[in-house]
Amino acid sequence: TVGSRRDSILFGPVSLEDRESFLTTIDRGMGIVEGIEGTIGNTPLVKIRSLSEATGCTILAKAEFLNGAGGSPKDRVALNMIEVAEEQGLLVPNRGDTIYEGTVGSTGISLAVLARARGYKAHICMPDDMAREKSDLLIHLGADVERVTPAPITEPKHFVNLARTRAKEHTANPDTESRGFFADQFESLANYTAHMNTTGPEIFEQTGGRLDAFVAGAGTGGTISGVTKYLKEERKMTNLRVVLADPQGSGLYNKIRHGVMYSPTEREGTRRRQQVDTMVEGIGITRITENFETARSLIDDAVRVTDDQACRMARWLVEHDGIFIGSSSAVNCVAAVVTALKMPKGSRVVTILCDSGTRHLSKFWKHIGEMGLEEETQKQDEDLLAMLG
Ligand code: PMP
Repeated sequence: TVGSRRDSILFGPVSLEDRESFLTTIDRGMGIVEGIEGTIGNTPLVKIRSLSEATGCTILAKAEFLNGAGGSPKDRVALNMIEVAEEQGLLVPNRGDTIYEGTVGSTGISLAVLARARGYKAHICMPDDMAREKSDLLIHLGADVERVTPAPITEPKHFVNLARTRAKEHTANPDTESRGFFADQFESLANYTAHMNTTGPEIFEQTGGRLDAFVAGAGTGGTISGVTKYLKEERKMTNLRVVLADPQGSGLYNKIRHGVMYSPTEREGTRRRQQVDTMVEGIGITRITENFETARSLIDDAVRVTDDQACRMARWLVEHDGIFIGSSSAVNCVAAVVTALKMPKGSRVVTILCDSGTRHLSKFWKHIGEMGLEEETQKQDEDLLAMLG
């Protein structure tokens, strides 16, 4: 069997014949893929044992950090945005075309990788208070990085507006034939359609359509909208409970629960970070994007998650499951637990693990280290609920 052959390869000498047939099995099982693009999608759905035991439900998490280009769900979005632009003739390989994007990191990383793979340059505008490892990585990937002071979305120097301007400047430059393409993840519908066409169907297939709740945060809203539209509209799962996981300070929680947003201006004067007063990166916004609006009416509820809960969850998952994740994934897992506790025992709750903790060492994980949670999170499962308050 493959298992015994695998064992002999791992634990003892193996004949060339056996080795070859084992490698053939790997190829057949995993498939040979075409370039780095081929490593995007088809991510595993991981049952998180400790959270399932503590809630009496099955908590399943889509391991999106395993997307092979940029290590997040944004790989799917970046690929789709580039392919759509290529089809429309807005991007032509190897003539110096540059992809411009405003991003807190993940989308920029995916775009920077795919730009290299497909003959483009990447220019990324991002707030300067995001974890340093993201901009360092972008630089190593050969992208131009502009780190800007956080500013309100109404101002030209907001990272998204700046990226749009830079793309226009590039295209308007009479000295070059090449063009600037503004990817525009917040408003481009190629964002949610990537999830509607891949993430949603994968979740449906992996669960055999047996899921009772889907829980996700929103940065652009592409993930929650695309998956929700696929499951509720295309698959007619009208009883599926869709829950927005929202970090503290984000306006979306109030929008879903009470139909009103925070007044952004109220906060802008007093906070350095224009968007959301949280250490969580990637989710939480104070405006409704096109992508979020697409499925807003299909979202049933929202759970607000504090930074403290997110930190404790991240630490808990390392301690109990060996799962090392970033801040937005931790918010998702807290909200998944809160959702599961309100549902009948045995329900299946699906959420998203967006990126790895290695992207968050200098901020989120540094803070967790300083909290000294080790002893607390080593306690048994019922304490998870006490821990989350
Ligand atoms: N997690 C991380 C780390 C992200 O960077 C993002 C996107 N900004 C999200 C989650 C949210 O995904 P979406 O944009 O699809 O709402």
